[in-house]
Amino acid sequence: MAPSVKPFGVTMSNLFKHFFAVCIFLCGLWGHIVMPCALAGSSKHVRVLIMQELPSLTLKVSGAYQIHDARSHEVVCRGRDIKGTVTQGKGKILLGAKSYDTDRIILRASDNNVIINGKHFRGDALIIRKEDNTLSVVNYIGLEDYVKGVLYHEVSHYWPQEALKAQAVASRTFALYQMQENAAKDFDVTCDFYSQMYGGRAAERYRTSFAVEFTKGEALSYGGKIFPAYFHATCAGHTEDASLLWNTTVPSLRGVVCGFCKDSPHFKWHYVVSLKELERVLKKAGYAFTHITAITEQGRDISGRVTYVRIAAGQERSADIAAKDLRSLIGPKLLRSTNFTVSLSGDDAVFRGFGWGHGVGLCQWGAYFMAKEGYTYQEILSFYYPGSELALAKED
Ligand SMILES: [Zn+2]
Repeated sequence: MAPSVKPFGVTMSNLFKHFFAVCIFLCGLWGHIVMPCALAGSSKHVRVLIMQELPSLTLKVSGAYQIHDARSHEVVCRGRDIKGTVTQGKGKILLGAKSYDTDRIILRASDNNVIINGKHFRGDALIIRKEDNTLSVVNYIGLEDYVKGVLYHEVSHYWPQEALKAQAVASRTFALYQMQENAAKDFDVTCDFYSQMYGGRAAERYRTSFAVEFTKGEALSYGGKIFPAYFHATCAGHTEDASLLWNTTVPSLRGVVCGFCKDSPHFKWHYVVSLKELERVLKKAGYAFTHITAITEQGRDISGRVTYVRIAAGQERSADIAAKDLRSLIGPKLLRSTNFTVSLSGDDAVFRGFGWGHGVGLCQWGAYFMAKEGYTYQEILSFYYPGSELALAKED
């Protein structure tokens, strides 16, 4: 049975209420975003950590460019065409034959295209010389361009438009929340699994960019405040209550029954790991087991996910480990979710599970099948983030 879906209110009688809600949301949203070093003339830029711990990197710009000292904000170089290597040494950043007496420079290309280690990025590149004598690169990029560089890696660009639009709003909202939370840090998000996958300009596709443009500036809030609009591949029946995993109590992230993702390719999985390998992994986290004799689930939460597992070596030695920690230790791509059963078979542990991801927020494959059934992206978002409001936060 399909769960009921309450669309966002769009009736004429609610028009003024929504207008004021949007105004309040916009003031609250943008009023809290303070970037420590506003680049490209706008505060609405996401700072994405795209590379780190590099001894050197290659850089290419075609056409006019400027290099700024990110500490003094002065333009330290203007020129045309760069093709060279960036290294560091003795308190300086070295770019080809030039040397900059600072620990961070910003490169801005007039054609909005910087090629770093062969990858194309829009926006500016902040190159940081770290204390351990390695280089990091942070891409400063407009919010909408950032979301365009995310979608292709998070969902297929062949998916129905309404699912792509829902993902665009979720990704934009997630980024806005991180911008708010990480204002005092060097970057807002990473470019990987730990934030959202981001591939720069090379990840842009016509259908995903269309979904981003269609929903331009739209973001979710609860009670006028933006929240981290988490998402995951497949919930397998019930999304997770975020408060069980992280320090958040936003009602829109409490979890819902999802009847839409049962045909997801990630609905079921199994993973076999040798006990020797498991012992090695556990040892790294401080659990010294030499001969595991039993692994048992110790309770499940309301969504069906395992809360703890008990690992025993003989009668005397055992430890209870949070299932989310075990997943993180083994590897979230191997132990795909915490909704599993586990048993021992000879010298192996056999996990049989359901779904992929932490399970909080939007279920991507659920959104795919909802879109296939004719639901709009507003309905999809309203379903997976109950009680949330969709508002427009226009970019310049
Ligand atoms: Zn689902």
